[in-house]
Amino acid sequence: MKTVKDYFGSLVFDDRVMKATLSAKVYASLKKTIDEGSELDIGVANAVATAMKDWAVSKGATHYTHWFQPLTGITAEKHDSFISPSPDGGVIMEFSGKELIKGEPDASSFPSGGLRATFEARGYTAWDPTSYAFIKGKTLCIPTAFCSYDGHALDKKTPLLRSMQALNKQALRILRLFGNDSVKRVTSSVGPEQEYFLITKEMYEQRSDLRFTGRTLFGAKPPKGQEMDDHYFGVIKPRVAAFMEELNDELWKLGILAKTEHNEVAPAQHELAPIYTTTNIATDHNQLTMEIMQKVAAKHGLVCLLHEKPFAGVNGSGKHNNWSIATDAGQNLLSPGATPYENAQFLLFLCAVIKAVDDYQDLLRISVATAGNDHRLGANEAPPAVVSIFLGDELNAVLEAIENDTTYKDIEKTQMKLGVNVLPKFNRDTTDRNRTSPFAFTGNKFEFRMLGSSNSIACANIMLNSAVAESLKIYADRLEGVEDFETALHEMIQKTIKDHKHIIFNGNGYDESWIKEATEKRGLLNYRTTADCMPHLLDKKNVEMLTAHGVFTEAELKSRYEIMLENYCKTIIIEANTMVDMAKIQIAPAIEGYTADVARSAAAKKALDSALTCSYETGVVRKLSALTDRIASKAEELETALISLSDAEDIGAESIIIRDTVLVLMGELRIACDEAETLTAKSYWPMPTYADLLFSVK
Ligand code: ADP
Ligand code: MG
Repeated sequence: MKTVKDYFGSLVFDDRVMKATLSAKVYASLKKTIDEGSELDIGVANAVATAMKDWAVSKGATHYTHWFQPLTGITAEKHDSFISPSPDGGVIMEFSGKELIKGEPDASSFPSGGLRATFEARGYTAWDPTSYAFIKGKTLCIPTAFCSYDGHALDKKTPLLRSMQALNKQALRILRLFGNDSVKRVTSSVGPEQEYFLITKEMYEQRSDLRFTGRTLFGAKPPKGQEMDDHYFGVIKPRVAAFMEELNDELWKLGILAKTEHNEVAPAQHELAPIYTTTNIATDHNQLTMEIMQKVAAKHGLVCLLHEKPFAGVNGSGKHNNWSIATDAGQNLLSPGATPYENAQFLLFLCAVIKAVDDYQDLLRISVATAGNDHRLGANEAPPAVVSIFLGDELNAVLEAIENDTTYKDIEKTQMKLGVNVLPKFNRDTTDRNRTSPFAFTGNKFEFRMLGSSNSIACANIMLNSAVAESLKIYADRLEGVEDFETALHEMIQKTIKDHKHIIFNGNGYDESWIKEATEKRGLLNYRTTADCMPHLLDKKNVEMLTAHGVFTEAELKSRYEIMLENYCKTIIIEANTMVDMAKIQIAPAIEGYTADVARSAAAKKALDSALTCSYETGVVRKLSALTDRIASKAEELETALISLSDAEDIGAESIIIRDTVLVLMGELRIACDEAETLTAKSYWPMPTYADLLFSVK
């Protein structure tokens, strides 16, 4: 029998395949490009292309594509076949180094936020050799970056790679200060935990809200929801188990380290976590995971919902971005060490993260902002929209000791003046309150928990890497060439703790009182919606930081601001239109049909016996009539509000109308429809209910 070991990575042109198929010289040259980012010459590219093509063809591939991550949030591909005519009337399979390195998709329809006028629409894709090529179906997929001809990034990968470079550069400066001369490279790693829902395809097809928007726009609360907590880590149902089994196989073939799977809090909700890897690859893998989840679900007659809030009143889905930084020698820089020197270094990196998260709270909030995620943040199921850091009691005590020049527990002050000689092993806090923190230290990594389930993890990591690079740069600028390194280091750490301790919060993030304290006493930011936070992408301090590290140009930031707000507006407009449609042509007529039948029944009863009061029927008819009137008027108001959007002078103004008017009316329309659902006989209701959807998979 074939074991996982035999087929793991079988569809990936990974290091094993490279070694086996490339000449020693070509392999060495490619390896240098991958590890050190050195330029690849065309001769090497040609040899790699041929080997890749031969390998892919031997696995049944007929096409290749430059696989990229445009700003739509999903991945894009345009397939070209390998065939080329041969003089004898047949074909040969060809693939050149030039085709490997650079592609020109006619990708004029991807959003560019004004970066690319349509007449010069042709962007180009460039091979990212740091992420392995792989086969999907019959296509060799080559991970690429997507840029405009004047060099602007049109995708999520380019700024991610730039942010990793920035972090590498500044972290190396710090390591050198600690006498660490042998480290060549510092990279950030991520393990993203992915939540999702599974429902049956049959139910899905019957709801246009799910089909058009990925979430239910109507639906009364089912009699049983998640209050029993009996789904969390519960026994996995056979149909779900079969799905997970096939999903794992598909992911493993692609070299994706799918590791844990379990049921989540809500009924029909599940989670998959891979083993962490380099951020760039983790991002590619997470995109692929989301795509394959949907494909495999379809094969099992299921639909995988990746929306952040598919069901009101039931927990939504997020993504936990477990993030750390490590050297090429494998040292995790967020792991406390055994010697005072290592610990001082650890504390400095820890402080760099604390400072980064505080200084760029807004960028972190922006990096997870979508119409879908706005429903989760602050809704007592996911962290609030206020960013704060959880450190745990032990680490907190260490920082307090340093801040106040006191000793930590019984440990004497050391010559490092850092208040600690040997740091304790920081065990991961397993208490529930930890789960409520948006940004938690979990022993040797930080867990950023604000991401929505459908978000690309690229955005969050771009901001995280860049902000930490900025802290490290400030530290390195101060410490390089200083006479008394240890004193300067001590002061720097102490200053960071003093200046930024207001971002540290170890209590319950779901508590209303925390939001009050955070905003009123501590002055932390609370951007509830995408419309609130997005304009701050263009705040001077943010533009300065991101451009200084070469992560974005100012023009790229402006374009991203436009695209993200456009996406927010478009998403909600589609939802609103779908609601109006469903309310008018499905829900109201269904209620009307039931009301008429009840009224007829009352009339028939009265005809039999005029003494009957028929108070039940009268009550139902009255209530439902009032509700249909309300539904009709709210639907009309919503339509008017949607028309008024065309008067907005720019996308910022439009997003405000959406936030303040459209979303409010959508909420009101929904309340009326959901109430009517609880009064209407099920056989009349025109779509599957929450109970049907959430408990459909056996
Ligand atoms: P949880 O209880 O939140 O599921 P786990 O310890 O299982 O926590 O880890 C969750 C994720 O964190 C996994 O994807 C794991 O690979 C990843 N992870 C573990 N260590 C690190 C690290 N040093 N850097 C980045 N991610 C990590
Ligand atoms: Mg987690």
